[in-house]
Amino acid sequence: MYDLQGKVALVTGAAGKQGMGRAIAVRLAHDGADVAINDITQFDVRRSEDDRIEGWMGLKSVEAEIISLGRKALIVEADVSSNQQVTEMVTKCTNTFGKIDILVNNSGIVEPRKSIEISVEDWAKVLAVDLNGSFYCAKAVAKGMIERGQGGKIINIASVGAKDPSPGAPAYTAAKYGLLGLTVSLAADLGKYNIHVNAVCPGLIYTNMGTGIGVRSAMRKLGISEEEAIAKAYSNNILRQPALGRIGRTSDIANMVAFLASNESDYITGQAINVDGGIVFGR
Ligand code: NAD
Repeated sequence: MYDLQGKVALVTGAAGKQGMGRAIAVRLAHDGADVAINDITQFDVRRSEDDRIEGWMGLKSVEAEIISLGRKALIVEADVSSNQQVTEMVTKCTNTFGKIDILVNNSGIVEPRKSIEISVEDWAKVLAVDLNGSFYCAKAVAKGMIERGQGGKIINIASVGAKDPSPGAPAYTAAKYGLLGLTVSLAADLGKYNIHVNAVCPGLIYTNMGTGIGVRSAMRKLGISEEEAIAKAYSNNILRQPALGRIGRTSDIANMVAFLASNESDYITGQAINVDGGIVFGR
């Protein structure tokens, strides 16, 4: 547990029951922060069958979790690919809480099509959410941080795909490489204001993006356990097996984000930290 008492965080893409955004928002609240939670709508864009069955209420459910931890929560629906909506979202957060100390750019989409097959529209959509959205949020939030003069923490959720890309997702790969470029550029520019900017590069994490959907669908269709579905995906070379031998959990990412959000990471900026159980080494 890190000490985030008195801090205010904004986490984008936080509506998914299985998502990293939810895990990050709840972890930051657990460590003491009040949290503004964003998504494009109340529900995440990949709302899974499991979520529908179990009555998940998206951002409202995350809000309830944060409040149950004794912290304040604010729901801010906005499309991060719209600079205007991002500006309004940041203004609403600042008007409610008086400041934003921690920004987590977590929202993201993927378009799994090969380079020559992806449409120009889909290419632009992925870049707009995964790269432009993070830039708009960072720009708006950093402005307030600079005016207040108390520093801040900006954490971008990138991917090990920005270091060792898999084939078949050119827009996603380009956006995440771009996000690492944005991270170092912001870190260099904002260091003098004591604003730390780092990226977390998750490996294969059990969410509704790619891996989780595949595993849960195999469990349902084949009537097998989670462990069996993951083992099957490894043996069919659908998943790359990490050195630590297990798929990542959203809590693995939330642990790193909480550290980067805290004062314990005060001499770290401009880094892209892999949290992948050992898929990418030494980069
Ligand atoms: P997810 O789909 O559950 O989370 C992404 C969230 O972003 C969703 O809630 C979605 O509704 C939201 N979103 C999409 N478009 C948006 C928009 N325009 N405005 C606001 N919100 C929007 O998947 P996840 O796995 O939790 O992904 C979280 C982050 O982690 C993403 O940036 C993803 O690229 C990255 N990542 C995931 C994995 C993995 O294995 N799951 C690996 C590496 C990186």
